[in-house]
Amino acid sequence: MAESVAILGLGTMGSGMAANLLKAGFSLTVYNRTAAKAEPLTTAGARFALTPAEAVRDAAVIISMLADDAASRDVWLGKDGALAATVKGAILIESSTVSPGWVAEFSRLAEKHGADLLDAPVTGSRMQAEAGQLSFLVGGKDTALAAATPVLKVMSKEIVHLGPVGSGAKMKLINNFLCGVQVASLAEGLAWIERSGLDRDKALTILKAGAPGSPLLAAISARMVSQTYTVNFLLKLMTKDLLYAQNEASQCNVDLKTAEAARSLFETAIEQGLGDKDMASVIEPIRNK
Ligand code: NAP
Repeated sequence: MAESVAILGLGTMGSGMAANLLKAGFSLTVYNRTAAKAEPLTTAGARFALTPAEAVRDAAVIISMLADDAASRDVWLGKDGALAATVKGAILIESSTVSPGWVAEFSRLAEKHGADLLDAPVTGSRMQAEAGQLSFLVGGKDTALAAATPVLKVMSKEIVHLGPVGSGAKMKLINNFLCGVQVASLAEGLAWIERSGLDRDKALTILKAGAPGSPLLAAISARMVSQTYTVNFLLKLMTKDLLYAQNEASQCNVDLKTAEAARSLFETAIEQGLGDKDMASVIEPIRNK
């Protein structure tokens, strides 16, 4: 397989995705603002580009996996940005969790340039990115998705086409709204259990086996109990997702009051210096109060 792929952004998720592209035999060029993060990938055979523009020059498929709207805008449209250097006919895949508003603007710019944009944010976290077991939530044209599928396949367990461009971004925000609210209420519930005199292990066993049980509750409660805050999902990114979700839902005249409440817990954790830890650390300010 020789198709040329570029990936922009080698954080928690982009690094795992890039490793799977290399393993599958794609010719891969990587770009990351902080160059040091590319070292394991260049050792494994990727080319490192000093700018986004240089990274995409020969790429048929370009994936970005960046923090937020601002990062995506910088990398695609900023100085030495990727879009201006993109080959006509290339497929652009925005896999970052970004706002549907930015996706719409980006899609118009891409089209003007002669390239198709897919919004393809993912569910799954660090482990699923490393194992090539992500789920892609895709918006965009059938033809673009068909062309991108061989590339998406090696990073994923499923690819769901939800509709026109922007559909993936919308679905991802709904998904993370429910995740963020659940993590925040778990933090309060667990802090309450710890102060209540109940046996914590027994209480969590009941919650996990009962109606509130979910994969997220099981995974995050274990991290909260052991105070393991190495990053699978950065706390500050969940704050961003809840804010984007609130803005997007408000355009459908839905006021996400539970997102507002959850976001205030995450904001408090950021004020206490936990923004660059895992989102499970949102429990600490509640525990320490
Ligand atoms: P991360 O580890 O924080 O990586 C963020 C990436 O964005 C890094 O490559 C960072 O570069 C880059 N970046 C940030 N601001 C930038 C700017 N202004 N200009 C250029 N590059 C910039 O985040 P992640 O966990 O990989 O997440 C990436 C995206 O996927 C986010 O939108 C996140 O919400 C979403 N997501 C994450 C998970 C998860 O479990 N972690 C799951 C699903 C979706 P530097 O290395 O130089 O900082």
